[in-house]
Order: sequence, then structure tokens, then C-alpha cells
Amino acid sequence: MSDKKAEFPVNKTEAEWRAVLDGETYDIARKGGTEPAFTGKYWNCEKEGTYLCACCGQPLFHSKAKYASGTGWPSYYEPIGSDKVVEREDRSHGMVRTEALCARCGAHLGHVFPDGPKPTGRRFCINSASLELRENQEEGETETTRP
Ligand SMILES: [Zn+2]
Repeated sequence: MSDKKAEFPVNKTEAEWRAVLDGETYDIARKGGTEPAFTGKYWNCEKEGTYLCACCGQPLFHSKAKYASGTGWPSYYEPIGSDKVVEREDRSHGMVRTEALCARCGAHLGHVFPDGPKPTGRRFCINSASLELRENQEEGETETTRP
């Protein structure tokens, strides 16, 4: 096992993270937990905007890449940039999965599966608690308000 703490530009101690995050976000993003399906704040969110890392604020996913996977977790077919999300093998719970982490602070986001829609065929299955949506506008009037 490599030392996870040394790999990321944003590097706080457990105590520092605990001080700035709410309990659920801390348990999931810093401790690799998973929120129960259909309970998070974003699994059925259709607002337009950018999903930021709940820990460090880095943009991770755009709402354009979000789709209704039916799993009960927010699902995206690609991150905003390939350098934003780190993928690493996760052999916990007797399974071999691909864990998705924030490339900036190492936050646990969720897992990546090979059963997503086009164009990537990938499914980034992410915990709502690891995300913070920054909406494009206060109300959903993006398409019709051009001058
Ligand atoms: Zn982060």
C-alpha cells in the first residue's frame, strides 16, 4: 500500500478534515464510505452546473455528463478532465473495483464501472456527499435567455 497522503497537492491531517467537513462527508470522502442508495442529495438532481469536490472545491464533473443510471447514486460518463479524477484498484469487500478519487485532495468519490452509456461506456458512480453542486444560474433558464 502506498502512502495516500503524500500523493496529493491538498494534504490535510485527519483532524483538519474533520474540522472542516460535516460528519457524513468526512466518513465517505475521507474514510471511503458509501452513502445508502437513493438517499444522497444529487442522485436525481437535474440542475445544470458543475459538481465540485466537497473537500477541496476542484471541479470534477459537469451536469452534461450526468445521466439517470437507476442506481440511486449520481452517475456520470466522464469527469471534466482526465487529470481531475484518479483511478486506483480497490480490493476491499472481497471485490476488485476501480475506486475514483479527487486528484487534488485524494477524497474518495466512488467507483468506476464499465457499464456506462456512450460515448465513454463508463459509469462514474459517485457519492453525493463527496460532491458540491455549483449551479450555472439561480433558476434553470440557461437555454432561453440569450440576448
Ligand atoms: Zn478534492
